[in-house]
Amino acid sequence: MPLLQGKKVLIFGVANEKSIAWAIARAFHEQGAELAITYAGEAIEKRVRPLAESVSAAAVLPCNVTSDDDINAVFAELGKRWDGIDIIIHAVAFANKEELKGTIVNTTREGFATAMDISVYSLLGILKAAQPMMQGRNAAALTLTYHGAVKVFPSYNVMGVAKAALEASVRYLSEALGPEGIRVNAISAGPIRTLAASGVNGFIHILNHVESKAPLRRTITQEDVARSAVYLCSELASGVTGEIHYVDGGYNVIGL
Ligand code: NAD
Repeated sequence: MPLLQGKKVLIFGVANEKSIAWAIARAFHEQGAELAITYAGEAIEKRVRPLAESVSAAAVLPCNVTSDDDINAVFAELGKRWDGIDIIIHAVAFANKEELKGTIVNTTREGFATAMDISVYSLLGILKAAQPMMQGRNAAALTLTYHGAVKVFPSYNVMGVAKAALEASVRYLSEALGPEGIRVNAISAGPIRTLAASGVNGFIHILNHVESKAPLRRTITQEDVARSAVYLCSELASGVTGEIHYVDGGYNVIGL
């Protein structure tokens, strides 16, 4: 029997076919899940809609996560179609390009707030709105983080600070929502060429370094992440919450 048969899954973060969220959508579809997919704006909708149709998504909805109205509208709409939500995927992050080069000293107050709002608060805002539809059904939420939360990587700057806050949020959310049977975890993915990654100045150097140093001597793929996402969101991980699970070819264990 497929691992996610009949599970209702809401996905934030599909921008194109290279998005990690898209690999997760496909893997979950293969495991029998029913999907709802959101997109950040009209320009992105053109790419997302055909992808969503190819996995027979039950709903394709707009959601700019900086807007509480947008977030609430997603759940109001899903409430009409579904009796609840079993899984939420949060694969959303943003920082201004100017702040993903040079050093963190260049960060502006506004840029800091933007990175924290879109990349961190959005998880809290989404789960706050989702809670009534997730409680009492052994639900799971999963977000995406990066090792730049705990170690310094060139140009990652304010996004490293945001990922540290995101990882702390996962721990606090796991405690807050655990009594309702909602598990909250993160995958810390190794570097992958995506739209978001292309915003980080010199990303290719990080990619090449990881490829030569990681125990598996390769970079990881979106599909590597998606397979671990199936595990973390399925009954196979029924006792796992508040966890930051590395899917990085082992890079994080290397000292030198
Ligand atoms: P991506 O560009 O495909 O995904 C980022 C998503 O964030 C996009 O779908 C974009 O539309 C969405 N987004 C940005 N601002 C938004 C807003 N205001 N409202 C709603 N959505 C918004 O890139 P990705 O690499 O698949 O990124 C997904 C997640 O994985 C991010 O959290 C990223 O930090 C994380 N991650 C990526 C890597 C990597 O190397 N690619 C490594 C570790 C973690």
